[in-house]
Amino acid sequence: MKIKILFSLVYVFTSSILAHAQELYTPRHIKQAYQNETRSLTGAPGAKYWQNRGQYNIQVTVDPETKIVSGKEYIVYENHSPHALRDLVIHFANNVHKPTAARASDVSTDFLTSGLKLKSFKLDGQVYQIDSKDWTTANRVILKKNIDAKSTVKVEMEWEYPLSLSSDREGQIDPGTYYCAYAYPRIAVYDDYNGWDMLEHNGRQEFYHDFNDYQVEIRVPKNYVVWATGSFLNPEEVLQTAIMDRFKKSLNTDEVVQVASLKEMQGQRVTKQQDWNRWKFKADHISDFCFALSNHYVWDASSVQLKTKRVSVQAAYRDGTKDFEQYVDWERYCIDWFSKNWPGVEYPFTTMTAVQGFADMEYPMMVNDSSVPDNFMDARQTVDHEIAHTYFPFYMGTNETRYAFMDEGWATALELLIGIEENGEEAAKQLFKEFRVQGWIQDPATEQDQPLISLSSQLSGKGYGNNAYIKSALSYLALKDYLGDELFKKALHHYMDNWNGKHPTPWDYFYSFNTGAGKNLNWFWNNWYFSNHYIDLKLEKVNQKNKIMTLHIQNVGGFAIPFDVILHYADGQQEKVHFTPQVWEKNQNSIALKLKTKGPVKEVVLDNDIFMDYTGDDNRVRL
Ligand SMILES: [Zn+2]
Repeated sequence: MKIKILFSLVYVFTSSILAHAQELYTPRHIKQAYQNETRSLTGAPGAKYWQNRGQYNIQVTVDPETKIVSGKEYIVYENHSPHALRDLVIHFANNVHKPTAARASDVSTDFLTSGLKLKSFKLDGQVYQIDSKDWTTANRVILKKNIDAKSTVKVEMEWEYPLSLSSDREGQIDPGTYYCAYAYPRIAVYDDYNGWDMLEHNGRQEFYHDFNDYQVEIRVPKNYVVWATGSFLNPEEVLQTAIMDRFKKSLNTDEVVQVASLKEMQGQRVTKQQDWNRWKFKADHISDFCFALSNHYVWDASSVQLKTKRVSVQAAYRDGTKDFEQYVDWERYCIDWFSKNWPGVEYPFTTMTAVQGFADMEYPMMVNDSSVPDNFMDARQTVDHEIAHTYFPFYMGTNETRYAFMDEGWATALELLIGIEENGEEAAKQLFKEFRVQGWIQDPATEQDQPLISLSSQLSGKGYGNNAYIKSALSYLALKDYLGDELFKKALHHYMDNWNGKHPTPWDYFYSFNTGAGKNLNWFWNNWYFSNHYIDLKLEKVNQKNKIMTLHIQNVGGFAIPFDVILHYADGQQEKVHFTPQVWEKNQNSIALKLKTKGPVKEVVLDNDIFMDYTGDDNRVRL
């Protein structure tokens, strides 16, 4: 059905007096950050903002016989804080595999491992005897000597850990393919509002990491190819000439190049034939480093020209996997699209590599996706979503562990926006409604409607998923509708310019948008983030007098959503009038809308589009 849009005058009346400028609930430690001037109410980093960082030099060996990953690590850790540190906190997320770990959900016995074995630990040359037997995912090392404020120390560690047989975000994908993520112990974030990040990793929440520099050498047996975060520094040392030539060609062409086929992998014609090869990668100012290796995955590559650079785009997968055969093209498309449209910021890294696995998980410059060979629309949604994470959290440095909506919500909103380009508006919105919105809105349980600002680390199950992905994505899309594309993009870029490469909190996001949009949006933040709202409009009453129609709408669910009013005229014509969330600015409980009509109307319908209504039946009135 085609909807004809007619010109009409729109009046908005509300009964309430002007709402007073609202303030946002601010936790006490965040208030302190404003007092200390590390953050600012303009939304920008404060005059005294600081963050710590490390330069990580790692040599790691993966032994496919024993499935042991072992490494030597040298970290130059810069304490930019004004505090002397009496301890150092070491995170090793893969200790979530230990039988004793506190986990968010059940696992199979194939998931269990003995975890990290720390073989040595030195700080500025001083040896520490540490028994890592009882280490968890977050471990405090009491220091023999403080790390002074604004000083640098050298940390050296040797360690090993086994790859788990079952693979999710990391582990053994198949015999001969391994995904090594969170594969080294790292210094936790020490920040201005929480101090040391002591939250354990339980397998559900995601991560919060410093922006570090990485130089990594990965030692694997011959005939294993390695894909990793960062620039690949030494193809000539590890690849046979024909393969290296194809890889180098891929860096300068829009065509998809098959760098290595299954036949070549099996025929030992890909890597140099010394017993062990050392693959070298480098990435600066980035929040993590991961890699994958395989002795039989095929390898496709191409590149995409952006405004200021060419980005290498690669895929590694089991031969004959239908969706992965398209992956390099899909990656090229979305890196270009995200750069030019939404968020409209050039893809910030040098590489993107997709590896076929089981996780549907993002890592800086890498994604680990499950294959959906029989549904390309679904497969492509996964690629789009995971690559969208490049911006949130990898460019923006959000605290995913505590505020998952600051990354998942954006990735989910971006997934819809690019999906509309790829599949058409109707199909993309249908998928979004079915896959994202429906499960939440149709279930009235308390768990479904916890405030978005709730700490992700305190949520579980549906409460976690709804806030991280769905309500947050809808809040961003509602805001886009409210501000209009131009002003929304201006505000978004203001936020991104303020905080890329840094650690924003939700309040930094709120206030950056207020400043960027030149508008106090606190009523909107309060409505979407600090409430138990859901989506439920009710068209209570419609009066028609001459050519003026008054619609009395109750906002039963509370969220300030955009919606369309559809007028069905007696003569069969239809008219659609769009209302942005602005209609709720003064009164979020009920509004009276006045519309000018062009004749007798027989039915009025409120259409919320992707903002699905809990009780859609009361959104229509027959006259
Ligand atoms: Zn995600």
